[in-house]
Amino acid sequence: MLYEPPLYYVTIEETFDVIKRAHIATGHGGRDRMIKELQRKYANITTKALELFKSLCEECQKKRKRPMTKGVMLRPILSKEFASRGQVDLIDMQSMPRSNFKWIVMYQDHLTKFCIHRPLHTKRATEVAFQLVDIFLLMGAPAVMWNV
Ligand SMILES: [Zn+2]
Repeated sequence: MLYEPPLYYVTIEETFDVIKRAHIATGHGGRDRMIKELQRKYANITTKALELFKSLCEECQKKRKRPMTKGVMLRPILSKEFASRGQVDLIDMQSMPRSNFKWIVMYQDHLTKFCIHRPLHTKRATEVAFQLVDIFLLMGAPAVMWNV
């Protein structure tokens, strides 16, 4: 039998340090180099988290020298009721699939920030809708729903 090293699940508190270590170890490496470094050891570091870390790294920003977009004003949306507004997002886990699950659908209630996650094999509309219907049966369908 082949020896397979264990894969670790990183808690939210540890994620920053784990990504930082991989980013430094790869010499301020980009997303793909960090994935290569991390997927041998960890099971739940998302591509999006790596991209976010890279985009916020001070050293990498100095190297880029491209001015950051500024002056974007966002007006916050206020919700008054639970389950009246909801946000849907897909988390890309293709770089670290587990038993054919390659995506996670995330639904968040806007007022309470309550989150529900469901694993997906694909990001096909039918599969996402199937999970959303189940979530709506649990907590009610929102009047407004959006995707970031
Ligand atoms: Zn960097």
